[in-house]
Formats: sequence, structure tokens, C-alpha cells
Amino acid sequence: MQMFFGLNATGRLDKDTLLVMRKPRCGVPDSEDHSSRIQVARWNKKVITYGIGRYTRDMPRSTVDSLLESALSVWARASGRTFLRSHSRNADIMVEFVTHEHGDSSPFDGLGGSFAHAFSPGQGVAREIHFDDDERWAATGTSGLNLLVAAAHEFGHALGLKHSRNPASLMHPTYKVDHSGANLLSREDITNINTLYRKLIY
Ligand SMILES: [Zn+2]
Ligand SMILES: [Zn+2]
Repeated sequence: MQMFFGLNATGRLDKDTLLVMRKPRCGVPDSEDHSSRIQVARWNKKVITYGIGRYTRDMPRSTVDSLLESALSVWARASGRTFLRSHSRNADIMVEFVTHEHGDSSPFDGLGGSFAHAFSPGQGVAREIHFDDDERWAATGTSGLNLLVAAAHEFGHALGLKHSRNPASLMHPTYKVDHSGANLLSREDITNINTLYRKLIY
């Protein structure tokens, strides 16, 4: 873990390591595999549907809807995919706000720490994104965690991307307040999503 975050790999819980561990971060495990940062798993279709199961009470449903739509539009341009809102439980990607143990053997940890996780296209039938509803979710980064930034990161996983070691990447596992500008995707993110979907035949 220390190596992943560019810290001295002491194996001890020193101050730098503890600072990184306390930061809000995505709960998807970091890949140890240096050779394949881009997963082979991807969606072999042009139109991908998404649904929202359980909402958070931190903001109106219409705000959640529009933030998730914005998060997907970031990837739509870069991947050439079209994302359609579905009101069926069988949507390709289901988004849920949940707390603690929620049926997938990756329980959330309450306020702070892990704020969300997502399953990649290759992981069986569980094509879901879970947000920890014990976090304070907000439309901006000033009064809580910025849902747009967090959702854009998780949709990256749902499209097949792994974590990046590059702190400038949206796919870096720690939550970053300063990511809320117009350019959510770094050059590396764009290259990775292009590589994943460019040669797709459908
Ligand atoms: Zn992540
Ligand atoms: Zn979960």
C-alpha cells in the first residue's frame, strides 16, 4: 500500500502512511499488477443503461440524478459510449446508496475512510456502484464529499478502469476536492479509456 501511494515502503504505520489511510478513498482494492493497469473487461456494446436504486437523503433526488448524468457525460465523450437512464432493476449499471454490511462482503466503515466501490464489467452479474451513505454527500466539495467527482471515479471502474498511481488521475484512489473543475479527466484517463474502447467492434 505504501508503494502504491509513493511512500517509503517501511511496512510500519508511520505518520505519512496514517495520513494517507485516513483520507476519504475509494474502496476498490488497488491492483498489485504493474503490467496491466487497464483491465481487459469492458462493455461490448455502444449503449449502456444505468439505474438508481436507493438514493441518499443528503440531497434531493433530482440533484443526484443530474450529478450522475454529469459524471457519465465525462466518460461518454472519451469512450464513445452512450449512457441511458433506465428505471428497470435490470439496468447494466445499478447505483445504490447503502451503509455498513450491504450484501456483497465488502461492508462500509461509517463516516470517513472508504466512501464507495464499484464492480468492473467482468465481475459476474454484480454490475453495481455502491456509495457509503454514512458520508455527507454534497453537490459541491465545500459541505461534504462532492458526488460528481466520486461518481465519475466509480463509473470509471464500472467501465473497466483500475486505479492509477498518478495523483493527477481521476482514477487515483484518494478523494480530491480540487478535482471539481471542468476537466475531471487527466490526459492519462483519456488515454486509458481510449485504449480500452477504441478498437471495439459492435
Ligand atoms: Zn476507485
Ligand atoms: Zn458494496
